[in-house]
Amino acid sequence: MPAEAALSAVLAPPPAFAARAASVGGSPVREILALTERPGIISFAGGLPAPELFDTEGLRAAYDAAFAASARRALQYSTTEGAPELRAAVARRATARGLATDADDVVVTSGSQQALTLVTSALIEPGDVVLVENPTYLAALQCFGLAGARVVPVPCDEEGILPDALAETVARERPKLLYTVPTFQNPTGRTLPGVRRAAVAETAARLGLWLVEDDPYGDLRYEGAEVPWLAAHPGAEDRTALLGSFSKIMAPGLRLGWLRAPAALRRAAVVAKQAADLHTSTVDQLAAAHYLAASDLDAHIATVRAAYRSRRDALLAGLAGALPAGSAWNRPEGGMFVWARLPQDHDATALLKTALTHEVAFVPGSPFFTGPPDPRTLRLTFTTHTPEEIAEGVARLGRALAESGGH
Ligand code: PMP
Repeated sequence: MPAEAALSAVLAPPPAFAARAASVGGSPVREILALTERPGIISFAGGLPAPELFDTEGLRAAYDAAFAASARRALQYSTTEGAPELRAAVARRATARGLATDADDVVVTSGSQQALTLVTSALIEPGDVVLVENPTYLAALQCFGLAGARVVPVPCDEEGILPDALAETVARERPKLLYTVPTFQNPTGRTLPGVRRAAVAETAARLGLWLVEDDPYGDLRYEGAEVPWLAAHPGAEDRTALLGSFSKIMAPGLRLGWLRAPAALRRAAVVAKQAADLHTSTVDQLAAAHYLAASDLDAHIATVRAAYRSRRDALLAGLAGALPAGSAWNRPEGGMFVWARLPQDHDATALLKTALTHEVAFVPGSPFFTGPPDPRTLRLTFTTHTPEEIAEGVARLGRALAESGGH
């Protein structure tokens, strides 16, 4: 018998994967994105910031400054909580937005996605209930699925969570936490009004609930008045994890985000982070801190806002001519997404196939739902094309719809 055959005869297969690994699938949106990356496609699909707007020179100078100040420090291991100057800069920005914050209240994370993972591992045991908006951000659903949570949707309307329905759901389901993206939500672009935020905070305090406020888009406001963070409302102080990100205002490749949370939750998140990655890249943190000290991030954000505002307007201007009568869509005051709903008998997933033959793409809304999806919905990202390309893309979408004839 050959040696390998003899060996395989005595080998036992390795044990099975954890149930959580088998139960949570890859993101269907990522699979769709692979189809939409062909050259020539005008894509409203990906949730990406516009790369031509990155401040590449400013960031290059910030990396140079981090090395010049102390390459040895920039390349060394560092603390789990994050570089003190970056924590202080995050705290100053949060305070300026109306939420008094100390550097010590903040943990720097590897993207805000990691902050969500850390908070989830600190709070959620298998079988615990997590409440979410419906539809909601896909990678949050994956995160809760991997933790073994039972995810329960809270009824929402076009302004987001319905506070009375939230109170009923909390009383019925006894959840550990509510995960919400209250400002320019992904995928709907919706913003929860201030009065509802106050009611959500009050409900959380009265019924005993953690709040996870995920806010990667809040700086991207194109019109209307800023709405204070949920975290800033009475009742939310001792029970809110606020997640912030540099992805949409600096660059997502930096993988820099932050968590602002009450001390006990922060400590638990720090332990989880030690187990996950010890700390976020030192050099990236120091470069971001140098950038914040030497460049005017708010001026950069103003440039990005102006560009995205005209891109949003181009999309909105085109939709009326492209979508069939009986369609509905919203007008987000900021962020990256418009949410649309086709008339009766339309199916956005079927439409995508036809749309791709017309070289235009979007993401069907279905994957973002918990429970039965609404197959007529779609998410349209407006950030990565010029207004002229967007106008052409919407015209192509109109032709795809005409061809698909409603099916
Ligand atoms: N939360 C939401 C709602 C998002 O849309 C995203 C990214 N698109 C994230 C979190 C993750 O962002 P980050 O790059 O900071 O990890």
